Amino acid sequence: MARELKEVQGIIFKRQKFHEADLLAKIVTQKNGIITMIARGALRPKSKLGASLLNFSFGTYVIYSSGQGLSNLRTYKNVKQFDGIFNDLTKNAYASFILDLADHAFIEYQNIGKYYDLLFYALQKIDAGTDPEMITQMVQMQLLAAYGVAPELRHCVICGKEQGEFDYSIKQGGILCSQHFYVDSARLHLLPKETAVLRTIALLPFERLGTVKINSATKKATRKAIDRIYQETIDLNLKTKKFLDELNLSM
Ligand SMILES: [Zn+2]
Repeated sequence: MARELKEVQGIIFKRQKFHEADLLAKIVTQKNGIITMIARGALRPKSKLGASLLNFSFGTYVIYSSGQGLSNLRTYKNVKQFDGIFNDLTKNAYASFILDLADHAFIEYQNIGKYYDLLFYALQKIDAGTDPEMITQMVQMQLLAAYGVAPELRHCVICGKEQGEFDYSIKQGGILCSQHFYVDSARLHLLPKETAVLRTIALLPFERLGTVKINSATKKATRKAIDRIYQETIDLNLKTKKFLDELNLSM
């Protein structure tokens, strides 16, 4: 494919020194998927590119791209930064994990559609001080579909019942009503209100999630449940997740 100059809107989330003074930076974009950009000379003192490539910067980046492999960063416009995330270790750890998780769900240049809005919303909320744990759990539940795991959370997977008490079954790929608990003895054995939280954060349009308040015991239980769902269906081994878990243990 021919190379062309194009503008992409996106968020910078990973960077790495390359050769002498070049930088490789990953950007998750609104319409062009996740792209690795090379910024030649970005680490030289006089370069103007470096400042636009700090983690959690977002804006318009002008790239020279063939739609595959490395794209060349030429210049940028209106770049801002999520300062709250950049300057806070905990927020930073959550935001890094969220973007890492998205990075593994898609291949480069694959249009990520609505998930871009989800990611941008999540970062905005974390940046502004909303509980990063709940935002992260929401993103994890909503990204399951992008990994090809689309659990049935609207109704019991066996009988279709929509209301009542539910538990989650990894084997059945969704929720079971209390009449069908017997189908999977290895179901997660969550309290009904814990399953209700999983359903809410997975199904609710994310813009409406800001008001959901969840106590810390429930939050811990849903954290464990989501970790198990990921381990047993996708089995990622992300360093950003390990770091986040260690950080939470030490707090
Ligand atoms: Zn049922």
